[in-house]
Amino acid sequence: MSTPVVSPHADAPAIGDTRLLIDGQRVDGAEGRTFDVFNPATGELLTRVAEARAEDVDRAVKAARRAFESGPWRDMKPKDRAAILWRLGDLLLEHAAELGGLETLDNGKPFVQARDGDVSAAAGLFHYMSGWATKLEGATIPISFPGSFHTYTRREAVGVVGLIVPWNFPLTIAAWKVAPALAAGNTVVLKPSEVTPLTALRLGELALEAGIPEGVLNVVPGFGAEAGAALTAHPDVDKVSFTGSTATGRAILQAATGNIKKVTLELGGKSPDIIMGDANLEAAIQGAADGIFYNQGEACAAGSRIYAHRSVYDEVVAGVSAAAESITVGDGFDPSSFIGPLVSKEHHQKVTGYVDLGREEGTVAAGGTYATEGGYYVAPTVFTDVTDQSRVVREEIFGPVVSILPFDDTDEVIRRANDTRYGLTAGVWTESISTAHRVADALRAGTVWVNCYGVFDAAMPFGGYKESGWGREMGGIVLDDYTESKTVCIRLGD
Ligand code: NAD
Repeated sequence: MSTPVVSPHADAPAIGDTRLLIDGQRVDGAEGRTFDVFNPATGELLTRVAEARAEDVDRAVKAARRAFESGPWRDMKPKDRAAILWRLGDLLLEHAAELGGLETLDNGKPFVQARDGDVSAAAGLFHYMSGWATKLEGATIPISFPGSFHTYTRREAVGVVGLIVPWNFPLTIAAWKVAPALAAGNTVVLKPSEVTPLTALRLGELALEAGIPEGVLNVVPGFGAEAGAALTAHPDVDKVSFTGSTATGRAILQAATGNIKKVTLELGGKSPDIIMGDANLEAAIQGAADGIFYNQGEACAAGSRIYAHRSVYDEVVAGVSAAAESITVGDGFDPSSFIGPLVSKEHHQKVTGYVDLGREEGTVAAGGTYATEGGYYVAPTVFTDVTDQSRVVREEIFGPVVSILPFDDTDEVIRRANDTRYGLTAGVWTESISTAHRVADALRAGTVWVNCYGVFDAAMPFGGYKESGWGREMGGIVLDDYTESKTVCIRLGD
């Protein structure tokens, strides 16, 4: 089973073993099922991958529990854990071309962006988080209870964590979660998206090569309704960290109530990108275009609502439209492509539905076209003459589609930018330091970029307000979500 079906590009890497990774072994699913994975550049079958069912998830959780309790990872000297995680970061970089190629085959994104963006970001997470393994400190606490006490806190691993990731940055988002989970001494069951399972399986292999003990990182590709649901509801999983849609996040919250799992959620967005009248327009226009079109717009942080001050509105519309028209859309292995195909047939149908809707709700200033056969391509599209109530302005499209709306004053644009159920990210372009701070303070979003957009770093916390989620990824703060704080109170005698 699980031999690659096609390897369509001369530059594409070999797909390798597509079986589950449980307890350090590559294994078929218990029911022997596989699922098809498609190449979004052509719509053709790419390979078949072993499908984890509930029984396989249970096996993986048991392996992770054994690995946690027997302690080869949790009880390892922090500096040794750190060295292994650093080595895994190095291995990702050594295999950057292979991993980037797998991501392009599976997700469709341009190879150069996958290799130099996604893979290097994932490696950066392991390098950064390796440093935290030796810095998980507690505190000594002076208490006022009568008598003499020595009271302190310890930070301990939570236990077995289930990590569920989406298809838009399959390796990078897996690293956002796996790296801090492992740095803190947890053991992991990772469920990649059924649409893009390949790099997660390779990550699991490279983790073993780096020296992570068997059973510490298990990888179980499968469908959300079966494998994802089984992991979320499993009574022996202590924590779930999920990235995906807000609707799935709700289902996960409910499923996690059984054993009161700790839950972290990184969900959807409809992020405003505000161009003030005093902005450096050249930088703002290019930055706003990249902020929506990078990664085919398949980014939770995409700046999909551009608000331009009325004094510069026409110039912004012309500039972003020209940027959209100048983008080459094509096969991710073609070096001239800046945008690849969307990830799947279903997602292409969703996004093109919004392109058709936007044509009714407003005016097409650029793009508005898409492929109807072969690969799942959509032209970068700009809508104008829409309102704050238009569905294309309110709903997450998750494609290369942006609306540009005019505004007249700062209070007004803050109110309109915040008028959304989401609160993930926002952008502000201005030459005034007071406007920058004032607007950054007032926006209800987990990250605000000023005179830049889409800057991510392993050291920068990332996550959402409102329905964009619970908790944060990256930065030192994420370790709070992967550790328990234990208070030890010792009576010293009279
Ligand atoms: P999705 O919610 O459909 O799926 C995400 C993952 O959840 C997949 O692995 C899927 O198999 C699994 N899943 C689905 N149903 C499940 C269930 N009932 N129980 C457990 N697991 C289940 O999302 P998607 O379509 O893969 O990704 C797109 C969405 O992800 C967008 O809404 C986007 O905004 C969001 N996203 C958010 C961030 C962030 O950091 N906030 C980052 C990337 C993507």
